[in-house]
Amino acid sequence: MDAPLIDHHCHVVARGPLGRDELESFLTESDQPPPPGCTAFDSLLGVELRRRCAPVLDLAADADPDDYTARRAELGGDEANRRLLTASAVETLLVDTGLGGDAMLDLAELTRLSGAPAHEVVRLETVAEEVAADGVAAAEFESGFGEALRRRAADAVAVKSIVAYRHGLDFDPRPPSTAEVVKAAGRWLAAGGRVRDEVLLRHLLWEGRATGLPLQLHTGFGDPDVDLARSDPALLTEFLRASAAGPPVLLLHCYPYHRHAAYLASVFPHVHIDVGLAIPHVGRRARAILAETLELAPFHKLLYSSDAYGLAELYLLGALGFREALDEVLDELAIGPTDRDRIARMIGSGNARRVYGLAD
Ligand SMILES: [Zn+2]
Repeated sequence: MDAPLIDHHCHVVARGPLGRDELESFLTESDQPPPPGCTAFDSLLGVELRRRCAPVLDLAADADPDDYTARRAELGGDEANRRLLTASAVETLLVDTGLGGDAMLDLAELTRLSGAPAHEVVRLETVAEEVAADGVAAAEFESGFGEALRRRAADAVAVKSIVAYRHGLDFDPRPPSTAEVVKAAGRWLAAGGRVRDEVLLRHLLWEGRATGLPLQLHTGFGDPDVDLARSDPALLTEFLRASAAGPPVLLLHCYPYHRHAAYLASVFPHVHIDVGLAIPHVGRRARAILAETLELAPFHKLLYSSDAYGLAELYLLGALGFREALDEVLDELAIGPTDRDRIARMIGSGNARRVYGLAD
């Protein structure tokens, strides 16, 4: 499939160069190293990385992980990132800036090295935590967050929530009252730490809806902070009913609940989905995941994302894996040549353009 790709959910990458352990830490969602004597390269993702990325760094496919790490360091962070990012040939990036830091490229650097314009997606919980860090009274949290969000969202293409990580998707779907928000803000500001209060997380979500921007929601697997059983997007059914009149909702990742997500996308006009992160983690099994997703998801509801974080390799593996799997699935589904091109364009970039209002 050579139709253009818009990566509608990704993160920044490490400046590098990276040591072997650091590189491996980005190959797993675990926050722990593998057992002694074992390696994160022994996974479908690790195999794919050596097969597909090594030639981009002038090594033979399936290069040894130590040789790969050494060659990456020899090229330097900028050159390795540039090669891998440009090889992914993604046209536009929508970047969740909630994960960052000095070791990571900023959006301007990401665009310089990839050649793809990058737009920001603002994480609601991060904005709330910035407001708290600036020092705000419980009674002023609601207005303070509202102002900060409007400011941050002014140049953004979407807002994003990680309520799945902070609470679970089994939250009360109603927007809380001001009195409830003040009380909950009082509890949180006194205790400190990350925002995990269910009332506040709901408030953030509904304020996010009020910006008029599309809302991205993490669902499905992720790092061990997530309680997988509580990240099933089917748990969002009541919230999706309640938010149906608003801007688009994008369910991110969805795996292993991608069939549940596909059902939601098929019945709620504002709901869209992706299978980012699963591709590239599942390697050549991407075809099966995509085929299962397209059993019910209308073609105008599926978007491409890599969910790449930390490694430019993940941008490349996401894009190559998706292109290849989509080709295979369209074959498998016996989609004729005329529709095939149209559908590939829709899924690759057209749906993202429509949902986020991006220019052609
Ligand atoms: Zn992500």
